[in-house]
Amino acid sequence: MASTDVAESKPAADVGVGVGARRAPSPASAWVNADGAKNHSKMTIRNLDFYYGKTRALKAVTLDIPDRRVTGVIGPSGCGKSTLLRVLNRIYADCPGQRATGEVRLDGKDILGPGVDLTMLRGRVGMVFQAATVFRMSIFDNVALGARAREILSHAQVDERVEELLTRADLWAEVKDRLKDSADGLSGGQQQRLCIARALGTRPEVLLLDEPTGALDPASTEAVEALIMQLKQRLTMVLVTHNMEQAARCADQVAFFYLGEMVEAGSTAHIFESPTQPRTQNYITGKFG
Ligand code: ADP
Repeated sequence: MASTDVAESKPAADVGVGVGARRAPSPASAWVNADGAKNHSKMTIRNLDFYYGKTRALKAVTLDIPDRRVTGVIGPSGCGKSTLLRVLNRIYADCPGQRATGEVRLDGKDILGPGVDLTMLRGRVGMVFQAATVFRMSIFDNVALGARAREILSHAQVDERVEELLTRADLWAEVKDRLKDSADGLSGGQQQRLCIARALGTRPEVLLLDEPTGALDPASTEAVEALIMQLKQRLTMVLVTHNMEQAARCADQVAFFYLGEMVEAGSTAHIFESPTQPRTQNYITGKFG
């Protein structure tokens, strides 16, 4: 593997503690835990531009993603939220004509440069989409697929991992008696939790959630949000959402995007109660969106 690969999973160097690191640190931008300890950044984004052909969809984005916290990404349609997620695990690399410039680091290591092991990167930085993407196979096999993606496991180990993953995704009790049934038969909310269980199978350190409840009813949304809150004990998450109440409920840090720019980021209380930028204020008060 090339020297720039990101396969190694070890504690991060302290590569920054705040958002908007090119600005002078301020209470709104420095990321500090409730106990006052500085939290290292799991991912750091510096001066990131992204192009779909000639269309520049992200413009000089700088943002830190704190470890084992939820970063909410908000902003009107087309502002670049999904594009940002597509850069963080380099899904775009499979699409001709799409390119990123600038710097994105995972535990201090460059992920945009050549020689990065993309399979390994996508194992470490998992993704869940708005439309639950269950495969046309059994509930068990959907989850086993994730578990086997990065490890060679015996049958007994797969059984154990599937139970563990479904338990972590808060779904085990609901499906343990029907593991061989097709995943298609689950409700929308259950399917989304199944996708999260499958994504957890690669033992990701970061989970990218692109409008994970956008297609769900309120009860299923509540179940997925509860799961997000539970998972953040061990995982770093980036949550793209149109739903500002959801960002307020789930996120520790919120970043507001507009027309490809990261306008402002800070603690959730800062963004929703006293944003610095007029565009943020106008968006959160519903003046546009
Ligand atoms: P959001 O997630 O905030 O709705 P996106 O990240 O999907 O926004 O899109 C950001 C910008 O990039 C938009 O202007 C959108 O039209 C453009 N875009 C997204 N996908 C493509 C694509 N495959 N080809 C060209 N432009 C795209």
